[in-house]
Amino acid sequence: MGAAHSSATCLSSPATTNIPRCYLFHRVSKPSSNSSSIPTIYLHLQKPTSNFISQNHYSLKSPCSSSKIVPLSCARVRLMETQEGSASKPVIDFHGIDEELIQKMAYDALVWSSLHGLVVGDKSVQRSGKVPGVGMVHAPFALLPVAFPENHWKSACEVAPVFNELIDRVSLDGNFLQDSLSRTKKVDVFTSRLLDIHSKVLEMNKTEEIRLGLHRSDYMLDEQTKLLLHIEINTISSSFPGLSCLVSDLHRSLLKRYGEHLGLDSKRIPSNTTVNRFADALAKAWTEYNNPRAAVMVVVQPEEHNMYDQHWLCAALKEKYNVTAIRKTLAEIDKEGELLPDGTLLVGGQAIAVVYFRTGYAPTDYPSEAEWRARLLMEQSLAIKCPSISYHLAGTKKIQQELAKPNVLERFLENKEDITKLQKCFAGLWSLDDSDIVKRAIERPELFVMKPQREGGGNNIYGDDVKENLLRLQREGNEEDAAYILMQRIFPIVSPMFLVRNGICHKDHAVSELGVYSAYLRNKDKVIINDQCGYLMRTKVSSSNEGGVAAGFAVLDSMYLT
Ligand code: ADP
Ligand code: MG
Repeated sequence: MGAAHSSATCLSSPATTNIPRCYLFHRVSKPSSNSSSIPTIYLHLQKPTSNFISQNHYSLKSPCSSSKIVPLSCARVRLMETQEGSASKPVIDFHGIDEELIQKMAYDALVWSSLHGLVVGDKSVQRSGKVPGVGMVHAPFALLPVAFPENHWKSACEVAPVFNELIDRVSLDGNFLQDSLSRTKKVDVFTSRLLDIHSKVLEMNKTEEIRLGLHRSDYMLDEQTKLLLHIEINTISSSFPGLSCLVSDLHRSLLKRYGEHLGLDSKRIPSNTTVNRFADALAKAWTEYNNPRAAVMVVVQPEEHNMYDQHWLCAALKEKYNVTAIRKTLAEIDKEGELLPDGTLLVGGQAIAVVYFRTGYAPTDYPSEAEWRARLLMEQSLAIKCPSISYHLAGTKKIQQELAKPNVLERFLENKEDITKLQKCFAGLWSLDDSDIVKRAIERPELFVMKPQREGGGNNIYGDDVKENLLRLQREGNEEDAAYILMQRIFPIVSPMFLVRNGICHKDHAVSELGVYSAYLRNKDKVIINDQCGYLMRTKVSSSNEGGVAAGFAVLDSMYLT
């Protein structure tokens, strides 16, 4: 997916350094409740003024250039209780951190990101999405990890193998996929094209014996109910397996250096091994394919500003397992691809063992028939597809909604405990043919999210737009309502956070979303891998509805277990 930047801002750009410091910070000493002599310094959000170029921006200078050294002992972060009292989970109180320390940490974090490859292509630089090493900028990140309750983290890990198994079972039920999506097919051309490929594969009577899933389940912790609710499972092109690990490392490194002053322990950041676990899964799939001359093929967009995330994975694959990965666009695969009579997929004469998609999830990925031909060609081959068309369809929002209906999970899973675990994290999901729910959503649109069958961020409908769209669909009375589902809106806790983008640290009220990566690999009856692999936290300003980092809404984050 694309990167989140439109312009690079130099660390000491005049636009930021010329802003008088008083515009940036407003200090208030709060009387200490525990009669400690250490004053707590509060940073308040400054109301924007006409000459205040960019709201709440911290100009980052080299810490060495700072003339005033504030004793670090002023900077303790306290774990503060949420409104519900001591039984509830603490959040990190960033009000306690002083300005000098924030500057130092942000500066160090930017140096760390540059030295360790926590980078994306800078969209303002030509060729940065095509040529590695040209026009790089740090990936947007949160300065400190977000506090997250350990029990919820554990339960999200526990349920990951159950989601993996569910997707696998659903993928094998071709009729369920076709029937559930049959109304959507009539009104959504993109879903219809995917279903056509699926039908062709069904007609061929072809079973995928080796199946590989590299998924990410996304969750939000609902503040009021304290439930960790599932947003969606991404079965195609789950982004940031590479960079998410680096953000955890960055935060650990910052806490090793500043943790004592902040009162935070770097060991509370759980280890994040996604990149190695995904590389391991790709390597094991490659081994199962059993052709030492075959390669892994990463299917990429023609311009990819998030290429370094992908390169991290391919580098791990090469270094740890000596498996070669090649990168091809769908158009290139159409040009260079061929299918041998035995089902072997050759691309540019190279045999392909595993096809790993980092594109192909959005209509814009198929600008012409060439891309659709390439998708079909790969699907018809013996290569292991990550994901297969069936796995892709099993991860659609319509299927998510169908699986949430009473007694549907029982069709795919036998274990009652597993079913309960899944149901516990399902939010309310409804089809638009449920007239009671549509009526309720028109009355209280703020409690719902309306979702089309799309991936990649920026497509959902919120607030008054839900009401307007539902009324429009009612007026028009056609079948377009089948293109959408309705979902209960989740309201995560809002806390002040420091977000770093384009070399600028900015404080804002933000919410976080947990992504849990998981891998599943099976060959016929043998399940080779079924496990959670690591995590991605994404933090976004609370005023933004959408959550994508690549789409420019969120920053990468890690978690501090509480
Ligand atoms: P996409 O496939 O485009 O990523 P998602 O369903 O993941 O679509 O939604 C995009 C973003 O919108 C999420 O990352 C999340 O931030 C927000 N979002 C989605 N569903 C909900 C919900 N039910 N309540 C609150 N926010 C949501
Ligand atoms: Mg999503």
